[in-house]
Amino acid sequence: MRAGDAITRPDDVGSESVSVLLPLPIHALYDYLVPEDVHVFPGSYVMVPLGGRSVLGVVWGAPLGDVAPEKMKAILEVKPAPPLSAVMRDFVEWVARYTVNSPGAVLRMVLRVSEALDPPRPRLAYRRAGDLPPRMTPARQRVVDLLDDGPPLEKADIVREAGVGSSVIKGLVDAGTVEIVELPAAPRLALPDPDAQGPVLSDDQAVAADDLTAQVKTGGFATTLLEGVTGSGKTEVYFEAVAEALRHDKQVLVLLPEIALSAQFLRRFAERFGAEPVVWHSDVPRKKRRDAWRAVSDGSARVVVGARSALFLPFAKLGLIVVDEEHDGSFKQEDGVCYNARDMAVVRGRLEDLPVILCSATPSMETLVNVELGRYGGLTLAERHGGAALPDVAAVDMRSAGTARGHWLSPPLVDAIQTALDAGEQGLLFLNRRGYAPLTLCRTCGHRFACPNCSAWLVEHRHFGRLQCHHCGFSGPVPESCPACGSTDSLVACGPGVERLLEEVEQCFPDCRTEVMSSDTLAGPDVAQELIARFEAREIDLLIGTQVAAKGHHFPMLTVVGVIDADLGLEGGDLRAMERTWQLLHQVAGRAGRAEHPGRVLLQTYDPENPVLAALVSGDRDGFLGYLKEQRRAAGMPPFGRLAGIILSGTREGDVRDLARELARHGPRGDGIQTLGPAPAPLSLLRGRYRWRLLVHARRDVDLQGAIRAWLKPVKLRGTMRLQVDIDPYSFL
Ligand code: ADP
Ligand code: ZN
Ligand code: ZN
Repeated sequence: MRAGDAITRPDDVGSESVSVLLPLPIHALYDYLVPEDVHVFPGSYVMVPLGGRSVLGVVWGAPLGDVAPEKMKAILEVKPAPPLSAVMRDFVEWVARYTVNSPGAVLRMVLRVSEALDPPRPRLAYRRAGDLPPRMTPARQRVVDLLDDGPPLEKADIVREAGVGSSVIKGLVDAGTVEIVELPAAPRLALPDPDAQGPVLSDDQAVAADDLTAQVKTGGFATTLLEGVTGSGKTEVYFEAVAEALRHDKQVLVLLPEIALSAQFLRRFAERFGAEPVVWHSDVPRKKRRDAWRAVSDGSARVVVGARSALFLPFAKLGLIVVDEEHDGSFKQEDGVCYNARDMAVVRGRLEDLPVILCSATPSMETLVNVELGRYGGLTLAERHGGAALPDVAAVDMRSAGTARGHWLSPPLVDAIQTALDAGEQGLLFLNRRGYAPLTLCRTCGHRFACPNCSAWLVEHRHFGRLQCHHCGFSGPVPESCPACGSTDSLVACGPGVERLLEEVEQCFPDCRTEVMSSDTLAGPDVAQELIARFEAREIDLLIGTQVAAKGHHFPMLTVVGVIDADLGLEGGDLRAMERTWQLLHQVAGRAGRAEHPGRVLLQTYDPENPVLAALVSGDRDGFLGYLKEQRRAAGMPPFGRLAGIILSGTREGDVRDLARELARHGPRGDGIQTLGPAPAPLSLLRGRYRWRLLVHARRDVDLQGAIRAWLKPVKLRGTMRLQVDIDPYSFL
């Protein structure tokens, strides 16, 4: 920029060239000239030329100075949007450093809806104007009637409501009977009302709510765990903090797992605040996302409820972040940039200097230890709201329960369901397995149906008549005969999935109205909402569900929960298997008896002595968590030590193996840090790519990321080879 330019803003970059960060995985920072008549600031969104294309980027700061000015290309265009804030730029760099990615890869997550940066296209509507045309038709008359009675309408609405083609509308415009008017770009969002009446809080709840609202009022960074059994009113409590932020004209971000399925939450929010929040997740249609992005960045979206990706939205005046179900694994992204949205939410809260609330009935070990060390505050709701008792949990030892071969319901579970049904109550059967059977094999030759692209068995989905891979989406029809030996009628289904369980339930309880709730039966959020509404309205007696049925729903008449295979999550035996299984089963169990009707939970297991099962039955949460903690501490595992997974993949097995071995030879090793592996990943083939893993294990005080960066810097990836770093891994597959 030239001297004499009118710009005097302190953050003006103030030079003739600037560095621009592009949303690219590597080599993302480039210098560009700023044309004389163009004004940019740090954070300005700009279009710049790159290799013959025009690319969206963000002005990052002073030029790197590594390109001669005469070779430098010029910025093409500055987008008419408020610049990305300094805090967001810091956040991008912070996440990049922590996850060992380039800032460009992180920026890509911020720029997901780039069209939001262009001025919104005007929305045109039609209203009645002059006289009727000389030639009237019934279709024209319907349009005239429609517009005579009401406000201006958009073309699509007229077409639908008057049942006419768009040529009819055009004819009326040409005749001067109807005229075109411009509507405001996006319909104004209804504002949630902070002073709408919430419920009267119990003493416990009020103490927690006061603490959180005080934090919001004073502002400043603090992280607080809000812990309480399911049904204790955590949501009501943090709604108070949300209301307080709204009173101070701040925006709020609420992160939820499985957001696409949380219609019940949205309805509850709308009931409490008189307006729906803005929703953000990958299934939201693009146009809506564009409007949401804009409304977030200009501050008009007051409360955003979103999946993990909402954390990268450029809020104009954020005042509070809530992470509900903070322990949930779906906050961990494992594609591209591997990050945990719960942890990064705390980072964003620190950079933005605002309070963060983490909520859970079963907090993660990481969070519990942070509370213990005083890094996070802790608030506890001890009781269920309204004094509802916690359910009575019992294990059913399947070794002696007398369940017939090919059946999955034990006699005690059948009895419990029957009792509930007789009393007009409802049941939930939990089995975390989609489809009919997890494995199909040939009785004659032993052939097992495996995915051609993955090291995984194909799962039979009888409902669709297909064998499916749950990893890559491969599917094929169930064959008539064995492809290996040609025998017909020799294929057998092994093990249960929810579809197969439905068959058995229909045999055992012929009059029971049963439905399956899994990601296969939920074609979208609307279907989920409908299913939940029908269960709430008691049009369904028994729900068979995978983990999509485990989350947050509140069903007053649900009194029996049966877990078909409580050992399922413990199979892998990885670092987090016990913690995860305990959390999931605790949550499932928490669905039972949430209102005045006491609940029962039966856990079918072949290993009732397992600490997870024992803790669920005895209710000895503290004992179990103490045991887990000591196990982790003794092994130096997170949160007492640090881990990073390194995943190498490629289409040629030998190349992947060779590079993995080569990398392992130079892996970080020394005081407080070691490299383990390489070994083929448990999922050694995924979507046609061979996979090998290494694991770096370090003491907490070691600069793990620094060591990894230095180690991987010289690595050149050829061909199809890819390398992914997963800091704080959740999955070891
Ligand atoms: P959690 O989030 O801890 O599972 P919720 O906030 O969902 O608990 O509360 C469980 C149920 O109890 C909800 O239906 C909620 O509306 C109700 N509830 C909680 N606290 C109160 C209260 N103080 N007054 C009335 N209803 C309440
Ligand atoms: Zn065969
Ligand atoms: Zn597959």
